[in-house]
This record gives sequence, structure tokens and C-alpha cells, in this order.
Amino acid sequence: MFPLLTVNGAAVSTDDDVFDVESIAIEFDHESGNSHACAACGNPIAQTTTGWIDDDGEEECPASADSPPTGHQAQPLPLSWCNSAAIQLEEEQDAVTVSISVGDPRGAFTFTMTRVPEDADSELAGCLLLHMPYPKQPFEHAPLQEVRPGTYLVGSAPSPLPRHLAHSNA
Ligand SMILES: [Zn+2]
Repeated sequence: MFPLLTVNGAAVSTDDDVFDVESIAIEFDHESGNSHACAACGNPIAQTTTGWIDDDGEEECPASADSPPTGHQAQPLPLSWCNSAAIQLEEEQDAVTVSISVGDPRGAFTFTMTRVPEDADSELAGCLLLHMPYPKQPFEHAPLQEVRPGTYLVGSAPSPLPRHLAHSNA
């Protein structure tokens, strides 16, 4: 059994006749390029000690109708929160792991589906198990707060959550 790798629905061919996929990863290089763009002029912008500048070093937004012009209006670029995303296929563990990194780029949230071996001495023999990140997990990638079952707020936020957002963090 060999997995078929597709990108945007199109099969990716390789030089190998037998293409044995073990891991697939997408990484964003946030060191180069800008993490923000201006909501008014659309230019990529970078933060300095004095404010936001575009690639020409201009603090004044060319789309500003004011006189003198006002500064750029920073908004984060889509997916600028993501360091990387990956799928790992582990035949020996009979497991598939999806990982998404948003904090320390050396780590990630991981979601693993695995099957308990058929011959395991367990009532769960042959069953599929899903392992997910959870609040207060040891060595957590980033703090999680449950908003509702299956939905978590990631990272620093009001703690405890505002009452209308908190499901049950007791
Ligand atoms: Zn601008």
C-alpha cells in the first residue's frame, strides 16, 4: 500500500517508481518577508522602533487622504501565525500524526490517530484511538483554554476566559 501525494488535487510524481511517503511538511519562513501588510495601501510592512515602514522605508501611507499623510494600518498577513504544518505516516506504529506549529518553531501541536494492535491484551484491541492536545498538557506547545468541547483558545488570553466564552475550565 503506497499513499498517493497530491497538491491542490493534482498527483505529485517523483522519479521513483515506488513512492513511499513517510512525511509531508509545509514550512513558512517568517525570518524573510513581512508578517504584516497595510490595510489601506496593501503594501507589505515591517515594524520598527518608530512605527511601521514599507519596503521603501516610508512611514507615511500612500493611500492616506490626510494631510500630512497618516501611517500605515498594520494587519497580520493570513497564516502568519503558522510556522509549519505536517503529516507523518508511521507504519510501524500504525499511526498518522498531523502537526501544526504556531509557537516555538521547534515544537507543534500534534494530533495522532493510531490503531491498538489486534493482538493487544486490551479491550481496545483493534480500535482506533485519537490523541489530541489538551489544556495543561505537560510540555504543551502553547497554553490552551477550552471554549467549548473540541475548540480551544491558543496562547495567552484573559484567564479565566470571559464567562460567555468559557465552557468549563473547572
Ligand atoms: Zn499603507
